[in-house]
Amino acid sequence: NGIDTLQPLETTVADIERFKDSSALELTCPNCANKFLFGGIIASNFYTMCYNGLQCKNCEHIFSPLQITSQLERCIRSHISLYYAGWLVCDDKTCGTVTRQISVFGKRCLSDGCTGVMRYKYSDKKLYNQLLYFDSLFDCEKNKNQLLKPLYHSGDIDYPISSLNESSIKVLSEQNRDLFETNRSVVQKYLSDCARRYVDLGSIFEFMRE
Ligand SMILES: [Zn+2]
Ligand SMILES: [Zn+2]
Repeated sequence: NGIDTLQPLETTVADIERFKDSSALELTCPNCANKFLFGGIIASNFYTMCYNGLQCKNCEHIFSPLQITSQLERCIRSHISLYYAGWLVCDDKTCGTVTRQISVFGKRCLSDGCTGVMRYKYSDKKLYNQLLYFDSLFDCEKNKNQLLKPLYHSGDIDYPISSLNESSIKVLSEQNRDLFETNRSVVQKYLSDCARRYVDLGSIFEFMRE
């Protein structure tokens, strides 16, 4: 189906590198207003994936599917508006001019005497990778095979106290398959738009690329 056709050709091992600049998905519990990062079916001090969905550890509220998809969609839209804001930044560290204006010389910095090159602060490639990252969070196969970008590293203040074993992850992935596929279809809606634009803008703004 459509979900598979847009998968990148590179191996999933490349995901961690690909997603290194991607922002985490922050969810808010609709019941207790606790905010936490969602990283798929992983150990977390803030949420549990149980057989019937996503549960807040603070108040035990179980998110309805819509409570997840609507927050995911809001987050995607905020990334898209950042992208559309079209901020450009000068690559000369001593200059650092930030503007939304594209000079008639295209990539030349507008600051007097600066020889720096203006680049998109939020590039189409970054947006595309951000959407692929959200997609990966709800990818049952990637969850099952524990191929997701880790949310925490040992030493982090929020590093999970308990762990989740491989067989639980496999079972929970299957039990939440419908929920996850619904979320993937939300991401997919924007991803296919973005992929098209990635190709179009890529050729139009060729001069802006690295
Ligand atoms: Zn809660
Ligand atoms: Zn400059």
